[in-house]
Amino acid sequence: MTAPFRLYNTMTRRVEDFAPADGKTVRLYTCGPTVYSRAHIGNFRTFLFEDLLRRALRLAGWQVEQVMNLTDVDDKIIARAHSAGAGTTIAAITAPATAQFFADRDYLGIEAAERYPRATEFIPQMIALVERLVARGLAYRADDGTVYFAIAKFPTYGRLSRLDMRSIRPGARVAQDDYSKESAQDFAIWKAAKPEDEAAGAAWDSPWGRGRPGWHLECSAMAMALLGETMDLHCGAIDLIFPHHEDEIAQSEGATGATFSRHWCHGEFLLTDGAKMAKRVGNVLTVLDLQQAGVSGAAFRHLIFTTHYRQVLNLTDDALAASSAAVAYIGEFAERLELPETVGATPALAAVAEEMATRVRDALMDDLDAPRALAAVFEFVRAGNAEMDRRGRDPAALARARSGVAFIRDALGVVPPPRPGGLVGLDGTAISEPRGQSGGIDGMDPALAAYVADRLRTRMQARGARDFAAADAIRDELLKRGIAIADSGAGTRWKVVTKVG
Ligand code: AMP
Ligand code: ZN
Repeated sequence: MTAPFRLYNTMTRRVEDFAPADGKTVRLYTCGPTVYSRAHIGNFRTFLFEDLLRRALRLAGWQVEQVMNLTDVDDKIIARAHSAGAGTTIAAITAPATAQFFADRDYLGIEAAERYPRATEFIPQMIALVERLVARGLAYRADDGTVYFAIAKFPTYGRLSRLDMRSIRPGARVAQDDYSKESAQDFAIWKAAKPEDEAAGAAWDSPWGRGRPGWHLECSAMAMALLGETMDLHCGAIDLIFPHHEDEIAQSEGATGATFSRHWCHGEFLLTDGAKMAKRVGNVLTVLDLQQAGVSGAAFRHLIFTTHYRQVLNLTDDALAASSAAVAYIGEFAERLELPETVGATPALAAVAEEMATRVRDALMDDLDAPRALAAVFEFVRAGNAEMDRRGRDPAALARARSGVAFIRDALGVVPPPRPGGLVGLDGTAISEPRGQSGGIDGMDPALAAYVADRLRTRMQARGARDFAAADAIRDELLKRGIAIADSGAGTRWKVVTKVG
């Protein structure tokens, strides 16, 4: 029997067995970005934890129905539209930010969720939810047309965040979306429209007058519209426990009487120099910074997965460099498995691949222990390289090792794509590589390939004429352009080792 899937549950503060209610599909809600400017890599630590989670849930044998909302109307977006000048709508702010979010997601190899609902597309469902809460006496309209949730009317308020209910001041209200545990008060679920809201196209008709939804209400309405009254699992970063998730529970369970989510799970923060990465601290880095520093998506994923999702992770240049080196090591091993004439395979190669897959699966089933999974991958690459050095000839073992690499790519996404390269045969013909299972070459520039093939043919002629000084000069010239070469019985193999151009 395979081990059960175990996952920390914030509600009980324990690691517990987890399985979807229907035994087949995990209905998962992950709070998504507020699309007003480029997400920072702290936000992406959370989305990478959730990406790992969905991959692990699939490994456990389930399908995943993940909903990630896009908050496209809230205080911050309206403020941004306002400061961009008269006539700027929230859509003008959120459309480019959303496109950027998807591009960054793809760079980091984060799988697409099944659904990305935008808050502005669910206004009728949000109004209906407020109406239900008002009808049940859990919400009330204040004189200005803002509707508040009355936390004293919801006896289990504060259960997720373990709030001390004695600190609650009945009737005190908070209108902004974000507030601290110390000021747990009646919170706005529908906000009366201000002139700025109208100007930015962020106001809708409602039974309480013109207004817009509160942030917490948006998630409750979209989650229940798409996943039903009870979902299996709800996630976010730890700062969402209070007030956001506490308020989501109050609104949803207050309206339906059903358990909103069967399980809750939260990821820790990414820090820089010991401080939370946050826009207001001014220490943010984005995917653009990673790209400019030459840090691949695979390398950043590796870095994030070196720390368990429930521990803080302090970002340093050294750690980034170590992760870049680690994924290069994995990538070179993957490339080596595709090279027909250099590779050898022994039955033991199949055994180490088998063992790695078991260890990675066990680690991920155990509360997403990614650091342990990465250790198993590292051991596979080390032992696998040693087995290849023995130059056996076992095609089945080779196939097993290749599927081991495919498994790592699937489970963790820490295998970089094959680097562009090729082979110039002894007769001077140019052959593109690697092909194999890795599925062709990303980013191969045909002009570069033609140039390299031409230089290698000249080098072959020089060698034929025993002009080794000229041959070595061509090797150095290529290396300066980021191309490494290696001679073999089949010809001369070349590879892009650093970014060219
Ligand atoms: P936001 O776009 O601000 O709504 O944030 C999107 C997600 O990123 C939320 O789940 C936040 O809690 C999370 N988040 C914000 N800052 C960090 C950080 N430094 N580390 C990890 N997650 C974060
Ligand atoms: Zn949410």
